[in-house]
Amino acid sequence: MSILNENRCIFCRVIARTAPGEIVYSDAQVTAFRDIHPVAPCHILIIPNQHIESVNALTAADEPLIGRLFLVAQQLAHQEGLAENGYRLIINTGPHGGQTVKHLHLHLIGGQRMRYPMG
Ligand code: 5GP
Ligand code: ZN
Repeated sequence: MSILNENRCIFCRVIARTAPGEIVYSDAQVTAFRDIHPVAPCHILIIPNQHIESVNALTAADEPLIGRLFLVAQQLAHQEGLAENGYRLIINTGPHGGQTVKHLHLHLIGGQRMRYPMG
């Protein structure tokens, strides 16, 4: 079951196709789309269709969903040609983590060698 906050959340609107977004993958649980401000040649956001605000809001019931996010990331990394050279997966959480959109999202970033941290 999807719980969408279509009025308040930009990522829920992308899932609902009421906001523009280049969607590269979707299934019943997960949607993935290209970041509007890419920081590398490939920058994809992988999100649960259910509105979950952040890692802080996860419960034990979400364990399969989190596994799904990572397996979709792995699949997309292969499709985007990133798997061999590698890539970075990031989940920013809260103000100190640099989270700006309050809908849980996994960044898949690749296509260039990256330093740590990124800013
Ligand atoms: P955060 O800083 O919360 O970890 O990441 C949010 C990301 O969402 C940023 O990289 C930002 O560029 C991206 N973003 C924000 N609004 C939109 C949007 O409307 N569409 C897309 N495709 N990406 C967005
Ligand atoms: Zn949302």
